[in-house]
Amino acid sequence: MRFDEFELNDQLLEAISYMGFEKASPIQEKAIPEILNNHDLIAFAQTGTGKTAAFVLPILHKIAQNPDSGINTLIIVPTRELAIQIEQQIQGFSYFLPVNSIAIYGGGDGADYSVEAKALKKHTDIIVATPGRMISHLNVGKINFENLKHLVLDEADRMLDMGFYDDIMRIVSYLPKKRQTLMFSATMPPKIKKLAQSILIKPKEISIELSKPAEGVVQEAYFVGDELKTRLITHILAEKKEYSSVLIFTSTKAKVNKIASGLRGKGYRVEGISSDLDQKRREEVLMEFRSHRARVLVATDVLSRGIDIKEISLIINYDVPHDAEDYVHRVGRTARAETTGVAITLINKSEYRKFLRIEKLIGKEVPKIGLPPELGNNSEAEPPSEQRIFKQNKKNFRRPKRAPNRDNPAEKHS
Ligand code: AMP
Repeated sequence: MRFDEFELNDQLLEAISYMGFEKASPIQEKAIPEILNNHDLIAFAQTGTGKTAAFVLPILHKIAQNPDSGINTLIIVPTRELAIQIEQQIQGFSYFLPVNSIAIYGGGDGADYSVEAKALKKHTDIIVATPGRMISHLNVGKINFENLKHLVLDEADRMLDMGFYDDIMRIVSYLPKKRQTLMFSATMPPKIKKLAQSILIKPKEISIELSKPAEGVVQEAYFVGDELKTRLITHILAEKKEYSSVLIFTSTKAKVNKIASGLRGKGYRVEGISSDLDQKRREEVLMEFRSHRARVLVATDVLSRGIDIKEISLIINYDVPHDAEDYVHRVGRTARAETTGVAITLINKSEYRKFLRIEKLIGKEVPKIGLPPELGNNSEAEPPSEQRIFKQNKKNFRRPKRAPNRDNPAEKHS
């Protein structure tokens, strides 16, 4: 589903597109309409599913449609890292909107504290806070929550594990009763149900099943530029002779032919399959591969979901799939039915961010392997941090007349 199908504010849609989001993730598809319809919500979803945008986007849309003074939204999260991360996403999405936000968390110095206190007193639309820090502000001064419309509890199960139940209940006691409350949690223990019963009203419930590659798959990755990818695959095929059936995935039909002919040029029996082939030709190609007459099959993602070819020992992702779920499907072609298999992903510079998202979704970091020295210089060996990618993306934004000052939320309105 595309984001414009939610009928979101135009400036918000513009920022979504600058952030590089094309299609809504499953949690976004389910949660955004419920939140726009003002329902309370309890959503079971893990980090990596796109849950942050699932609540940030409809909230920003509502603020943009009905700008008001005072604190509109309070987002409570377990850790400072998450507070910073969420607030960064809010800044990205609200870049073209007169909406401001601040992250409030412990561990900083006195100067941070007074900046936070000022933001809480002035017109700051969205506060992202850790429970402890929020309580210490509540203890010191009066905070005007009169206009608060949304309360979000993110990673609620983790907050309860960290012993924040009482703090959360205390914070809630300062908020207007008439509000929309959204709760996100990776798991569903009884204490989450208890919390939900005490602070949510007739919530809609959403649950996102997270698929994960089978335990038997060994996952590895290389940081490598496109110009070296075919040579690297040739090297892998030569090194791993024991892998008699190798499936190479790529995201476009055009690349299927390019990769297949590149490898044929190196002397391998290679077939390519994509939706360009008619049914009869597809059957023939699959037969060549199943019968081991062709050692390598190059395919697009269409193939990763449907077909059942047993005994594929090695999967190579020539590029990082756009959709994190596609990675799971691609990798799922090997190590079926408790056997073992290897899945190798080739990541170029522009794909780092997508791969980070995949690692978040599968809940682990995939080991990165250095290129074999005979391939020569690899300019893409060093991945940028997520922070740097974010800054890079923001640099590409079309700027308003003057860039807003991040330390002074009120400036965004000027
Ligand atoms: P989250 O689960 O909110 O921590 O999101 C995980 C990562 O996925 C973040 O880096 C987001 O920027 C990214 N992301 C979330 N939704 C989308 C989407 N619809 N398309 C592309 N990337 C997304």
